[in-house]
Amino acid sequence: MDYEDKTLKCRDCGRDFTFTAGEQAFYSEKGFENEPARCPECRASKKRERNFGGRGPRQLHEVVCDECGSSTQVPFVPREGRPVYCRDCFDKMNSRASAK
Ligand SMILES: [Zn+2]
Ligand SMILES: [Zn+2]
Repeated sequence: MDYEDKTLKCRDCGRDFTFTAGEQAFYSEKGFENEPARCPECRASKKRERNFGGRGPRQLHEVVCDECGSSTQVPFVPREGRPVYCRDCFDKMNSRASAK
């Protein structure tokens, strides 16, 4: 089957982009039924966003370590009545727990 370059409109930025013959062959080889909805740039930035969302900057909360009493920051909301530990104490406890 022969493919020809096709011009598609990006759903995100509205720009025309080329869905090349090579890409079309790749898509049908992979069994993708839909044509790409976004231009390569928008696809790349979407991907970046997704990667970033996984480990983006998180809200830090100031807490006092239950073990050593020094103030530290944790990336979660500390719950009332539950001990929180600074990184050092947390690591210490973890290594203690995993030590056999
Ligand atoms: Zn775009
Ligand atoms: Zn501590």
